[in-house]
Amino acid sequence: MAFFFLDAYYIDMNTHDINILREWLGDKGIITNERQCAPYAQGWRGNTGKCAAVLRPTSTKDVSRIISYCARRKIHLIPQSGNTGLVEGSIPDDSGTQAILSLDRMNEVKDIDPANRSVCVQAGTRVSALNNTLEKYGLFFPIDISADPCIGGMIATNTGGARYMKYRGVREHLLGIKVVLANKHGSIIDAMIPLHKNNTGLDIKQLFIGTGGIFGVITEASLLLAQLPKQIATALLIPRDKNDMNELLISLEQKCGQSLSAFEGMSGNAIRAALKHSPSLTNPFGTDEIPNYAILIEITYDWEKREGQQSLDDELKLILEEVWKDSRTPLDNALVGAPEKLWALRHALSEGVQKSGNRLFAFDISFKRGDVMRFISFMEEMLANEYPELTICDFGHIGDGAVHFNLVLKKNSRKTKKKEYESELRSLVTDIVVNNYGGSFSAEHGIGRKNQKFYDLYTPEEIKAVTRAIKGAVAPIDIGAIKI
Ligand SMILES: Cc1cc2nc3c(=O)[nH]c(=O)nc-3n(C[C@H](O)[C@H](O)[C@H](O)COP(=O)(O)OP(=O)(O)OC[C@H]3O[C@@H](n4cnc5c(N)ncnc54)[C@H](O)[C@@H]3O)c2cc1C
Repeated sequence: MAFFFLDAYYIDMNTHDINILREWLGDKGIITNERQCAPYAQGWRGNTGKCAAVLRPTSTKDVSRIISYCARRKIHLIPQSGNTGLVEGSIPDDSGTQAILSLDRMNEVKDIDPANRSVCVQAGTRVSALNNTLEKYGLFFPIDISADPCIGGMIATNTGGARYMKYRGVREHLLGIKVVLANKHGSIIDAMIPLHKNNTGLDIKQLFIGTGGIFGVITEASLLLAQLPKQIATALLIPRDKNDMNELLISLEQKCGQSLSAFEGMSGNAIRAALKHSPSLTNPFGTDEIPNYAILIEITYDWEKREGQQSLDDELKLILEEVWKDSRTPLDNALVGAPEKLWALRHALSEGVQKSGNRLFAFDISFKRGDVMRFISFMEEMLANEYPELTICDFGHIGDGAVHFNLVLKKNSRKTKKKEYESELRSLVTDIVVNNYGGSFSAEHGIGRKNQKFYDLYTPEEIKAVTRAIKGAVAPIDIGAIKI
């Protein structure tokens, strides 16, 4: 059997297409009005595309019908769940010919099984809505980020987040999946098997984790849940020298083990941007100067405090005192504080940085843990000399070797805002990450139009060939924003 990619050309949707799809999906199931389409066609960072229509199915069967119809009519679909992605994977290009397949009406939470610690959800369910429903069972889906994505998009990008150290990412929490393959039949794969252990051949769900929707549309998932933590303590640490941060991390891992759930780095520039943008935030440093670098750490216990046991805050203070006294660890100061307040600061960084300058060039990169600070120091020196118009506002999941390396074009900069400037900068930084440090050009945001160039450049030919062969065999219809 021969398979062909249908990516040679695409046609505009016409009134006949719209009428047919409206008949299947109902009035609420299709949007064609430009003003109503606009929010779906705009990405989180303000970048916009233009779509022919937004299709809003309510069932896997509907998704199958849409994919099959659009394949025959050569209408290019862009799957979209929460639209919080940061790499232009969930929005259409500006041709106006692509249609968004939105999962926003597929948001049912079903089959909560506390004994199995699992739940089945439709792919358009927001993680906040899922966790609100689960709270009364003492369970949660423990992938925590500063936005509110949906399960389908989280699977397609293998979302990591701030508590990856303890819980890992989506991959470790996906038990089963239902997907519609991108082929002319819109074939449905139902692998909603809520088993913790199952080694009976190809683990089909792996194909759809972190692959940006290139093989089809995820419509349902069976998720492994975690116990809601019963005791939580957080602190801000000020390192003497951020370049020795690994010593601090290792020391805390040795003292806290699996209870260390976060080790989040925040540069002074990023903290200042967040405090300025969100005046309602409490400045945890009080009247003191904002430090050059701070780390938010969290430890959690999944059990209630026992009688006679000291509070977790007190236990954390003891741990930090031990670390501080050890001359090998570079801890200068520490502040144990209320988790809501410290996390509010951490979660405000992204938006604060976004609003802080003329323009933001954001990189979601990762390294072996020992290399993160070496990279940042190298870039500080290099950019200060060669790109003085940029301010580095980095922060990130340092405990996992991941960093959101943000370059902000200063407000009064007379430097060009043109595309060539951005392109040069992106290539420069990415080249250093990949070639000098063996790092990743996309730690956790997945692949989208924004990093297509780097996928093409840095993905080994053999891996690209295998990806294309699998796609050609099972899901030959071109779908989504990326070309593999
Ligand atoms: C403030 C902020 C903080 C963030 N922090 C983090 C972080 O700490 N860690 C992290 O990993 N990410 C982070 N992100 C990125 C983003 O939230 C994640 O990539 C997110 O999980 C995407 O989910 P979504 O539902 O919004 O997907 P979308 O944005 O809708 O889509 C993302 C990609 O998945 C594809 N897709 C969507 N739904 C489906 C589906 N049902 N089937 C197949 N493909 C589909 C899309 O085509 C697109 O390529 C952050 C984003 C913001 C705005």
